[in-house]
Amino acid sequence: MTPIESEARYIQPTYTRQPITLTRGSGTRVWDADGKEYIDCLAGIAVNVCGHCHPKVVKAIQKQAATLIHTSNLYYTEPQIKLAEELINLTGLDRIFFCNSGTEAAEAAIKLARRTTGRTGFIATENSFHGRTLGALSLTHKEKYRTPFEPLVPGVSFVRYNDADAIAEAITPETAAVFLEAVQGEGGIHVADTEYLKEVRELCDSQDVLLILDEVQTGFGRTGAWFAYEHYGVLPDIMIMAKALGGGFPIGAMASRNDLQFERGDHGTTFGGDPLACAASLATIDVIRSEDLIERSKTLGAYLLNRLQSIGSLAGNRVREVRGMGLMIGMDFESGCSDLVDLTRERGVLLNCTADTVLRFLPPLVITKQEIDQVLSVIESLE
Ligand code: PLP
Repeated sequence: MTPIESEARYIQPTYTRQPITLTRGSGTRVWDADGKEYIDCLAGIAVNVCGHCHPKVVKAIQKQAATLIHTSNLYYTEPQIKLAEELINLTGLDRIFFCNSGTEAAEAAIKLARRTTGRTGFIATENSFHGRTLGALSLTHKEKYRTPFEPLVPGVSFVRYNDADAIAEAITPETAAVFLEAVQGEGGIHVADTEYLKEVRELCDSQDVLLILDEVQTGFGRTGAWFAYEHYGVLPDIMIMAKALGGGFPIGAMASRNDLQFERGDHGTTFGGDPLACAASLATIDVIRSEDLIERSKTLGAYLLNRLQSIGSLAGNRVREVRGMGLMIGMDFESGCSDLVDLTRERGVLLNCTADTVLRFLPPLVITKQEIDQVLSVIESLE
């Protein structure tokens, strides 16, 4: 059986996969089992910020794997403490909880908000995506993901994105926190307006409600800053991150203010912050910094956005809008865009289609201008 046939036979059918088997990656490129080369403009869905198999990340993983892979959290380990210090420096927050994925980071934030406020209400937004475990799913807007698993965690209300008044109206004495993405990813690349996050921050302060920002997709340079909230000049009370944090190695984290603390035994996970994951993450952060990838995300992102904005239609499908920040860009079409994903893949560029109509660009931040021009020529060949 081919891997595609075996998958159909042995794996739970939760994913719609593109019909190629990837066998190797290097930098911005991946190769399939037939040896065909692609420019990976999705980067494992905003994960491989340093590209595939960056030598520094590979070396750090190899070195740590030969030294100490896993200990549990019953002991202290240096990589975990070092990474916590890095994340505190980068986020401006005070304490870290480590886990293994974005959805787990969302669960930690939900529990911390409940624990520290004594309240159980949350306000999330239309088109939000915070994960698939039951708590995170309860904050995720899409009916298709939610309905088969109801009843979900109660107490969540959804309001229009980019509408601070809607949040003001939804706050009740039971509200623990507002849960937001500064740029909505899975929901179709919707960017928060300049004043929106500021107004929400002020509202949360005046109403004694926590502001939780989900930087799982936007974090680590994706939007042209370490974190998207920097563009808005606000600091959340709790922030969650995952995806690019490990440069491809699974790790998630929640950062929070010092006065928001769990008590011993309140929360935990066996693998969270293990030495191997933390070593991969430390190397990833080092590469982002030493290769100036944040500046690259900002300038090449602006270039790509501008060029894509001059395109009126692809394969007969009219463009409604092109939106984004840094190297997180979506082309929103009048109708479904999965056929465009097939067409670009056949021409050697990997993309995906999110929220049905949005062709999403999340290339590794190490991509060069020349490679972006190559991607653009593939896209423009469909005009
Ligand atoms: N939050 C956001 C903004 C995401 O984009 C995602 C995943 O796409 C998640 C949370 C969930 O992360 P994970 O898939 O690692 O559980």
